Amino acid sequence: MCTPVPIAIALGSNLSSELGTPVDILNAAIERLRQLPQLDRLEVSSWYRTAPIGPAQPDYINGCAIALVAVTLDPHQLLQNLHHIEADCGRVRTQHWGARTLDLDLILWGDRIIATPTLTVPHPRFRDRAFVLVPLAEIAPQWRDPQTQATIATLAARCPDTAIVQASRLPSTMSRHPVKEQA
Ligand code: AMP
Repeated sequence: MCTPVPIAIALGSNLSSELGTPVDILNAAIERLRQLPQLDRLEVSSWYRTAPIGPAQPDYINGCAIALVAVTLDPHQLLQNLHHIEADCGRVRTQHWGARTLDLDLILWGDRIIATPTLTVPHPRFRDRAFVLVPLAEIAPQWRDPQTQATIATLAARCPDTAIVQASRLPSTMSRHPVKEQA
């Protein structure tokens, strides 16, 4: 029997849709991830309110999920599944780095390094993004980045991006996924 591999996915939303607010959309995305038969033992961080980068747009709600995946699943197949979930939750791709109803990024796939035209893992910008590192450090602090060998906790502590401040919590529809507010 093959040993399953841990994977990490980052989630973000800053537009409402017919599914509801960004928090509702992220919760809907988590339910869809739970339904993927290839993913096992999904764990979800808190949701964080973060300031946008790029063009002027509403604040984001961000978080991360980790899971175990059967090694028989190809990372590109998982990326396709993530794109289907994005589309299912109403994502329309418009402006680069602009507002979006749902963004799902594949951050880590065990200790694999993948560089193809459509998929780069570890995600090329995740080490600069507190909105990925802070939630991921909540659920996988000791996971080592295969390129720098630093743990997620270390990368989060080093990250200069101060868009996330862990402060007060907002009520959430799912108590396992509380929102942490920007100060
Ligand atoms: P985005 O607009 O941020 O969702 O990026 C979309 C494109 O980035 C997709 O068409 C993917 O093929 C590509 N991409 C490359 N590496 C990754 C990754 N690790 N996670 C998600 N998308 C990726």
